[in-house]
Amino acid sequence: MKRRDFLSGLGASAVAAGVSACTSPCEQAAATGNAPGKTFNWKMVTTWPPNFPGLGTGAVYLADAIEAMSAGRITVKIYAAGELVPAFEAFDAVSQGTAQLGHSASYYWKGKSAAAQLFSAVPFGMNAQELTAWALHGGAMELWREVYEPFGIIPTPAGHTGVQMGGWFNKEINSVADLRGLKMRIPGLGGEVLKRAGGTPVSMPGSEIFTALQTGNIDATEWTGPYNDLAFGLHQVGKYYYYPGWHEPNTMLECLINRDAFNELPEDLQTVVLRASDAATQNMLAEYTARNHIALQTLKTEHNVDLRPFPRDVLDRLRALSEEVLAEIAASDALFAKVYDHYRAFQQQVSAWHDISEKAYYLTT
Ligand code: CA
Repeated sequence: MKRRDFLSGLGASAVAAGVSACTSPCEQAAATGNAPGKTFNWKMVTTWPPNFPGLGTGAVYLADAIEAMSAGRITVKIYAAGELVPAFEAFDAVSQGTAQLGHSASYYWKGKSAAAQLFSAVPFGMNAQELTAWALHGGAMELWREVYEPFGIIPTPAGHTGVQMGGWFNKEINSVADLRGLKMRIPGLGGEVLKRAGGTPVSMPGSEIFTALQTGNIDATEWTGPYNDLAFGLHQVGKYYYYPGWHEPNTMLECLINRDAFNELPEDLQTVVLRASDAATQNMLAEYTARNHIALQTLKTEHNVDLRPFPRDVLDRLRALSEEVLAEIAASDALFAKVYDHYRAFQQQVSAWHDISEKAYYLTT
């Protein structure tokens, strides 16, 4: 999407909505000491290749939304992975104020805090609808802010992928034993579970995956789903395309906001940043949902991809191992335990409802 298309597409109503909840600019300026005409020139670092479908374009959507809803009072210059800092230094860049914003996924920051992972994807955890509910109406944001507080970062949700694919494998997975010795690119908690199953998880940015699978440096990789996987050409280097993405039943993307930069904004612009992030969250899930099925058709009809479900006993074993891994991390990390207990309680409650609503409905189709 071109940035000017967004500006015209968003229209005056969204701009008004972003501002209407606030007091007048003059009152805010008086309250914060900021001149109402001041322009804030911000940088956004991301963990994605430039304009990468869904993720990179999601970052562009967010930057455009902030510019449009602020009527240009905040400008956002986007830096793809490696342009200002390497992909996995985005968190530090925002923490240190090198950039005011970041667009990423919180499981990349498990080295900062194990609890961070719980806000992106949990194996056999909540889907996009449930995770949004936990974040916006279930109390998760308070916990997420607590986890990032020591780093001077304010997080907000900034996208969803929906249920991901299990990944591309160059070895058949017919039983639990086939996971042993499997070297796979798989980040976050899913990687920990694979390790427990006897595999070797590898974490690497998306841009390195194709070559790693092509050269046999890894036996398998997950990335996202048909829309993103087709864009990377993974069908050219992976034999079997397994589903479902047990390790990422959704991944919630994040907007990282440097706290000092946020606090310098007048109140109406703070609201703009937060509401723009909400809009980006919804837009990304819609983009993935609309594009994944088109890409899946292309993979099936034009590339004859060998699409396979994971065997039931493999999924059952991975589920049991996931519970073990999560319990062990919780036993050794109090903050992880606090967030995970909250997550699990919400998941149990929402599942009871979704058993007779979403799941029951899917069974009728
Ligand atoms: Ca993934």
